[in-house]
Amino acid sequence: QVSLTDEDCLFCKIVAGDIPAEIVSETEHTLAFRDLNPQAPLHVLVIPRVHAADIASLAETAPEAAVDLLAETRRVARAEGHESYRLVFNTGADAGQTVFHVHGHVLAGRSLAWPPG
Ligand code: 5GP
Ligand code: ZN
Repeated sequence: QVSLTDEDCLFCKIVAGDIPAEIVSETEHTLAFRDLNPQAPLHVLVIPRVHAADIASLAETAPEAAVDLLAETRRVARAEGHESYRLVFNTGADAGQTVFHVHGHVLAGRSLAWPPG
């Protein structure tokens, strides 16, 4: 159920420029901006311009956007000086997803425990 925008969606409002964000990169299909509440020295969210709730839905409905998003994560990390990074997609409320517009968390710059807590 991909739609161009969801009028109640926070991240669609960032895509539209209605809510400010510290944007670090833009591509045809994606936008990357700093997380408001960073959990690591580098914490950027990479999102598709189109609305989809999660990465699996995006892959099914707009595969070119999903591929661009995945490739963009490493470009963002490298541009910030990080060769290694953690990519997280919290998927579903019980997994900690709070914003239901797919976003990849790109985290780097500190040691990251595995398995996560
Ligand atoms: P989730 O818990 O859904 O995986 O992640 C949502 C993320 O969005 C959180 O890390 C939160 O800090 C971030 N966030 C929520 N609202 C805003 C906002 O208005 N601007 C930015 N830049 N980040 C936000
Ligand atoms: Zn949205």
